[in-house]
Amino acid sequence: MRAITAAVAAIVMAALPATAKDFYLTADAMIDVIGGKRVENPAIVVRDGRIVAIGDQADLSPPEGAERIDLPGKTLLPGFMDMHVHLQSDAETPFFASMSFSIPRQTVVAVKNARRTLMAGFTTVRNVGAAGYTVIAVRDGVIAGDIEGPRIYATGPALSITGGHCDNNFLPPEKEDVADGVADGPWAARAKVRENIKYGANAIKLCATGGVFSKGTKVGVQQYTVEEMKAAVDEAHRRGLTVAAHAHGTDGIKAAIVAGVDSVEHASFLDDEGVALAKQFGTYFSMDIYNTEYTLTFGEQNGVPEENLNKERQVSKAQRASFTKAVEGGVKMVFGSDAAIYPHGDNAKQFARMVQFGMTPLQALQAATINAATLLKRENNLGAIREGYFADIVAVDGDPLEDISVTEDVAFVMKDGVIYKNQ
Ligand SMILES: [Zn+2]
Repeated sequence: MRAITAAVAAIVMAALPATAKDFYLTADAMIDVIGGKRVENPAIVVRDGRIVAIGDQADLSPPEGAERIDLPGKTLLPGFMDMHVHLQSDAETPFFASMSFSIPRQTVVAVKNARRTLMAGFTTVRNVGAAGYTVIAVRDGVIAGDIEGPRIYATGPALSITGGHCDNNFLPPEKEDVADGVADGPWAARAKVRENIKYGANAIKLCATGGVFSKGTKVGVQQYTVEEMKAAVDEAHRRGLTVAAHAHGTDGIKAAIVAGVDSVEHASFLDDEGVALAKQFGTYFSMDIYNTEYTLTFGEQNGVPEENLNKERQVSKAQRASFTKAVEGGVKMVFGSDAAIYPHGDNAKQFARMVQFGMTPLQALQAATINAATLLKRENNLGAIREGYFADIVAVDGDPLEDISVTEDVAFVMKDGVIYKNQ
């Protein structure tokens, strides 16, 4: 009997994540994203996965038994947070071939990309839309310690109108291919949110307008009505979940904001009223302004149809101008890159574009840390290097406030007080 208990205990132990040790971390500097400043010669004590003390190296000595990690020449930052990824698909897979991927096959892709994303310094992501609850399974696998990956906020299938951007429109009617997120009408939208939650979603995604990579949808055209979106938002909020709305067109952006969504994804064709409404409602914008470079360079070779490439050409220029408008207008911004449109792990390439199109390096870093944490209602324990916060810490060479592109090469990754990378 005892032997069996011991054996069971051994199996349970093996499945648990690597136990977080105590660490004493030093580096040349760290970025305080809340105070908006660079701090020289920091020392950080990590215990049980949390940051328990921060001080100057001269004053804060290593606690007994803590493992000392010195990162000379490096700057410490809170782990990056990407609010718009699709771990279950790859940009490099030929466009139509990817449609033949089963749900289990997509899950395997997501497992690979979860690790790749973590190693790039992204310790939290929000996966917005995945068929078959694939990424919810990956999220739970990460939590259980079965696989390595970021902290994942995962939606189930994205809500869509029939024939809308998040429906499947490539096959003829006799194939009866309907995406599992399709819900028409307010009550159907509520029911679909409930179904998402039933199967483990901890965020909700809906598609408010047409999109670039779907067949027969116009990016500028609103799809869900305000009434339908309000129903979905009301249902999600009552259950404590936030809602991300895919919206490119001007009317759809405004309708989603008025319906009360927490973030508007893409926000490509933005006008002054859209900026004013976002500020009035406190809506975040998550604008993916890097991936167009990948799509317009490699899309054709990856088999993206001309209809979709053409839409990308229309959207990309407008979206970058809208990004500048939103930043100048003072809209709350989060980092959202639409990873899957470009290869996973290249997420940080978007930082330099955010600076190029109007943010300071500090604003770009805040978008990917404390702002994202606030969107997820986790600003009290995620998104900053602060005492009591989860120990999600990355390190880069040099000073990201001088040259933001240093974020593209992350040398050190800690999540929940466990070191996953230390080059
Ligand atoms: Zn997307």
